Amino acid sequence: MLEGKGLFTAEDLLGYAPFRYEDRTNVKSIAQLAPGEMATVIAEVTSAKSTKLRGRMALFEARFMDASRSVLLGKWFHGDYLKTILVPGLRVALFGKIEFDSFSGALSVMHPEFEILSSDDDTEAALHLGRIVPIHEAVGKITPRVMRTLIYRVCESLGGLADPLPAVLRERFGFPDYATALRHLHFPPSGEDVRVLNAFRSRAQQRLIFEEFFWLQCGVQLRRSKTRLEPGIAFDLNDRVREQIKRMLPFKPTGAQKRVLKEIAEDMAAPRPMNRLLQGDVGSGKTLVAAEAAIIAVENHYQVALIAPTEILASQHYLYLKNLFSKLGYVVALVTGSLPARDKQKLKQLMAAGLIHVTVGTHALLEEDVSFQRLGLAIIDEQHRFGVMQRLRLMEKGVTPDVLVMTATPIPRTLSMTLYGDLDVSVIDELPPGRKPIRTSHVNEDRIEQVWSFLKGEIARGYQAYVVYPLIEESETASMKAAEKMYRHLQDVVFPDLRIGLLHGRMSSDDKETVMQAFKGGDLHVLVSTTVIEVGVDVPNASVMIIEQAERFGLSQLHQLRGRVGRGAAQSHCILVTGKLNETGRERIRTMVDSSDGFYIAEMDFKLRGPGEFFGTKQSGMPLLRIANMLRDQELLMEARREAFGFLEEPPSEGEKERVLEYLRGPWLQRYGLARVG
Ligand code: ADP
Ligand code: MG
Repeated sequence: MLEGKGLFTAEDLLGYAPFRYEDRTNVKSIAQLAPGEMATVIAEVTSAKSTKLRGRMALFEARFMDASRSVLLGKWFHGDYLKTILVPGLRVALFGKIEFDSFSGALSVMHPEFEILSSDDDTEAALHLGRIVPIHEAVGKITPRVMRTLIYRVCESLGGLADPLPAVLRERFGFPDYATALRHLHFPPSGEDVRVLNAFRSRAQQRLIFEEFFWLQCGVQLRRSKTRLEPGIAFDLNDRVREQIKRMLPFKPTGAQKRVLKEIAEDMAAPRPMNRLLQGDVGSGKTLVAAEAAIIAVENHYQVALIAPTEILASQHYLYLKNLFSKLGYVVALVTGSLPARDKQKLKQLMAAGLIHVTVGTHALLEEDVSFQRLGLAIIDEQHRFGVMQRLRLMEKGVTPDVLVMTATPIPRTLSMTLYGDLDVSVIDELPPGRKPIRTSHVNEDRIEQVWSFLKGEIARGYQAYVVYPLIEESETASMKAAEKMYRHLQDVVFPDLRIGLLHGRMSSDDKETVMQAFKGGDLHVLVSTTVIEVGVDVPNASVMIIEQAERFGLSQLHQLRGRVGRGAAQSHCILVTGKLNETGRERIRTMVDSSDGFYIAEMDFKLRGPGEFFGTKQSGMPLLRIANMLRDQELLMEARREAFGFLEEPPSEGEKERVLEYLRGPWLQRYGLARVG
C-alpha cells in the first residue's frame, strides 16, 4: 500500500509530511470538561444508536464514559457507517469541541476526531495523546494513526543525517539541521504553537520547504546555464528578411507584437539556442509573431517545425500559415496521425530532403522516423499540453535549433518560475485594435429557452455561434453522446430552420476539417462541439459562445473558450449556463463574468482549484513538491530562487559547490527527476 503512494524507503516516509496538526495536549477527564473548549478525552463506548432524521439523514450517537463516571455524547450526521466501528466496550481517544446538549442535559461533541486505543498500549497512546499530534493523510487502508506510529519508529531510529543544505544557508536563516527538521516536522517539540504549525511556519517546516524550492531552483538554473553555453544558430537579420516579413504581414502589428518580435529576433541572431516562452492572452496574435520568426529561419535556409496539441489546431495553423506564406513561395506541409501512410511517407522524405520549409503537425511530428535536413526553429503551441520530454524530442530533430514555446494559458508567476524557469519570457499584453470586450453572463439551466431565443436573434443579424458541452472525465464517448444528443435536439426541435454542425474528438480529421471549413465559410449557423475547439480556432464572424454545464470547466479553459468569440468587430457574447452552484462554483462563475484578464483568471483558478488540478495532466511537467506549496509558500519560493542563483554564481567555495552539484545529480535527481523541471 505504501508503495502505491510512492513510499519505498524510510527516507520516503520521512518526507511524507503531515497535512495538519492537532493540539491534544489538553487531556481531561469528562468530569473536568467545560463547554466551549477543545479537549481530548479517553473513554469507553457504553452504547450507540442510529436514528433517522427527517426521513433520510441518519444521526449516529454514541455514549462515552470514563473513570470519572461522567457521560459524554458523540454525534455524527451521516454516521451510519460507524455502527460496526464504535461498538460498546471499545476504548477510544476523542478530540473535539465540547458543547452542552440541552436536549439530553449532557456534554456532547459533534463529529469528534477519534482514535481507537487497544486496551494495553498506554505507551503507544503517549504518541497519540497529550501532545501536538501530526495528522498524516491515510494511505490506502493505513490510517493516520498507523502512519504516525510507522513514522515515529523511523524517527526514533534516526541518528544524525548528512545535511545536504549548504551550511552558509542554514546559518543565515537559522534553520535546524536536516535530521532535527525531519523529527520536528512530524513530532513538534513541546511548546510549539499549533497555529504556527498549521500555517507551516515552524523553523523545521520552513527549512524543509525552503530546501525543496532551493534544489528545484538550482536544477532550473543549471539547465538554464547549460543551454546558454551550447553553440546555436546565429540567424542573419538582413534586409531581405525584413522585406519578406513586410510582404507577409496582412495588417499592422500591435506595439506588443513588435516588441516581442524584437526580443525573439535578437535571440535568434545570437549564437546560442533560443529558449523562449511567448505568453499572450487568447486572440492576442501569437501566431502572427510565430510566422515572423519562421521567416527569419526560412530566409536563412533553415526549416521550421510547428507542433500543436490537437489536429484541429494543427490544421488551423497550417491553413493560416499557408495563406500568409503563399506570397513568399514557401512550401508548407501538415503532418498528423490521420494522414494516409503513403502521403505521410512522401512528406517525410521531402522533409528529410529539406524541400519543405514549414511543417505543421501534431504529436505525429515527434515520431522516430521524422527527420529534417536543417531544422532551425521549433515552435511549440500550447506548451502545457506537452511534456518537457516532448519539447526535448522535437529539439533533437535539429542540431540545437531555436525553440519558441507559445501559450495562451496564462500561468501564475510562481508556477511559471518552477515550470518554465529555464525559459526566457516574452509577453503580448495588448489585443489587436478594434476588439470590443466580450459580454459575459451567467444563466441558470432552467432558463435555457431564453438563451436559445437570444441566439436566434444574433443569427438573424448574420452572426454565428458556438455551443459547447463539457468533456466528461475519462469518457470522450459519453461527452460525444451528450453533444450528439444536443445537436439532434437543437437541429430537430429548437432550430429546425438553421444549419447546425457537430464537432467532437472522435470524428476523423477529414470530417472535422469539413465541418470546420463549413463553419468558417458561413455555411453553418451554429457549431455544437465538445471542447475540441478550445484552442486556436479562429472564426471572426462567430459572436456568441454558449457553454453548457459551465461549472464543470476550469476557469482558464472557460477563458480559452470565450476567446473563440470577440475576434471580429461585432459585440460578442459569452453565456455560461450552469445548474445549481455551491459557494466555490458561484465564485468561479462570478470571476468569469467580472473579468476578462486571463492572468487574473488563472490566478483565481489556481487559488480555487490548487496547482494539482490547474493543469490536470501529469504530462504538464509539474514538479513534485512534498512539503512546499506554491500558493502558501510563495515568499519562500522567491527567497530560495534568489539564494539558489546566488549560490551557484558565487559559491562559498568550489568544494561546497561540487558537493551541491553531486547531491543534485545523485539523490535529488533520483527523487524528483531533473527532466521534470522546466
Ligand atoms: P492567438 O494565437 O494569440 O490566440 P491569433 O494569432 O490566432 O491569436 O490571432 C487572433 C486573430 O487576430 C487572428 O484572426 C489574427 O489574424 C488577428 N490578428 C493578429 N494580429 C493582428 C493585428 N496586429 N491586427 C489585427 N488583427 C490581428
Ligand atoms: Mg493561437
